[in-house]
Amino acid sequence: MSKRDYYEVLGVSKGASKDEIKKAYRKQALKYHPDKNPGDKDAEEKFKEAAEAYEVLSSDDKRARYDQFGHAGMNGGFNGGFGGGMTMEDIFSSFGDIFGDAFGGAFGSRRSSGRTRVNKGTNLRLKVKLTLEEFAHGAEKKVRVSKYVTCNTCHGSGAASDSDVTTCSACKGTGHTTRVMNTILGQMQTTAPCNVCGGEGKVITKKCHKCYGEGITQAEEVIPLSIPAGLAPGMQLSVTGKGNAARRGGINGDLILIIDEEPHDQLLREGNDLIYNLFISIPDAILGANVEVPTVDGKVRIKIDPGTQGGKILRLRGKGLPDVNGYGKGDLLVNVNVWIPKNLTRDEQKIIEQYRSSSTFTPKPDADDKGFFDRVKNYFS
Ligand code: ZN
Ligand code: ZN
Repeated sequence: MSKRDYYEVLGVSKGASKDEIKKAYRKQALKYHPDKNPGDKDAEEKFKEAAEAYEVLSSDDKRARYDQFGHAGMNGGFNGGFGGGMTMEDIFSSFGDIFGDAFGGAFGSRRSSGRTRVNKGTNLRLKVKLTLEEFAHGAEKKVRVSKYVTCNTCHGSGAASDSDVTTCSACKGTGHTTRVMNTILGQMQTTAPCNVCGGEGKVITKKCHKCYGEGITQAEEVIPLSIPAGLAPGMQLSVTGKGNAARRGGINGDLILIIDEEPHDQLLREGNDLIYNLFISIPDAILGANVEVPTVDGKVRIKIDPGTQGGKILRLRGKGLPDVNGYGKGDLLVNVNVWIPKNLTRDEQKIIEQYRSSSTFTPKPDADDKGFFDRVKNYFS
């Protein structure tokens, strides 16, 4: 039998857009759906033909090959292609994208037919506090979590021994039962998980004494974590398979790490920038000095110029935190404060008193440091 042209099958032109192709396929699939045409072989063939045409025309790559070489270009050309025929299962499993949620109930349940249910463990959520140093450099950490693990007596089967597991007689091991449903497309045969075995297709006749048939037990586990540099508070990291084990040998859930910040005793975070409040003495502010400031890479020394005003902000480029998106690093902003002492000795008071009338000590902000107020304004705006 010669194959029909894919465009002809879907009833679209050669230049049809992806959207037109999708709409055309949806129409055909609904028309020839086996649930609407029970026992109609011709409809089933048309249904498969439409699915095959859609599979090719919805992929840019396959469509280009088809346009150039026709059906000849398709032979053995793609993974698990139509050489051996596309199964109804394959077609149903692609329905999610085509029909969306509106049909999920009716068609979705078809997807599981022929397959028994696989349990999935639940996800664990854990708050992880990182210091600014750990945000900057990443960290190797270990966390202790209380979680469900696979029972080590029955190895997850839930049965006392291998011979204590039998095929479910209600569903004959398929894990589902069939029922007829009325939908907007008419009457449809749908399947539902078997309520005797819970969709597993197996029944345990004698349960494991340790886990009481669950296949999982509660235990503490120490999980090593490799925290990358450049995270930010509020971010979530997922460690695949480190969540709770599933009942009776299913797939583990994930461990979700919620990143939080351990307050630093000297540095404040402001996005990727860090802020440090530096206090210098009046003599240091007047005469200049070399002072130490903390950074996430350890202490560094910075120079304070003679005549430095309180409120001046020194920017140490690249001494902040790495950007979350990998765009370099933030800065360390050193906020300079001049420390004014309160209780002077009598001698100190006398000395300072001498400068009260000195014109050198009279504030002249405009002449001294033009733009100082603008800089402050810009920083805080
Ligand atoms: Zn057990
Ligand atoms: Zn069953």
